[in-house]
Amino acid sequence: MAKYEVVVDRAACIACGAARAVCPKVFKLGSDNGKNRVVDEYSVHLDWKTSVGVIPEELYECVLKAVKVCPAKAIKIERVE
Ligand code: SF4
Repeated sequence: MAKYEVVVDRAACIACGAARAVCPKVFKLGSDNGKNRVVDEYSVHLDWKTSVGVIPEELYECVLKAVKVCPAKAIKIERVE
């Protein structure tokens, strides 16, 4: 089954909450700086400016909704395997 890498540019994120609203299985606002991040279950890297996660194929459409709705264009998704 395919896997996808999700990268959130937290420096660009304006913490509007839209990513979490459309895809709460993958995104939440971080308790560190209030900006979007990948939830612990899928997170592989987190710091103040970048959150990286690896998600299974069944969550691709969910993340794509967040990519499209993000006003800061802060979310990228790319197939990794
Ligand atoms: S939709 Fe974009 S700007 Fe809004 S919280 Fe998510 S990543 Fe940040």
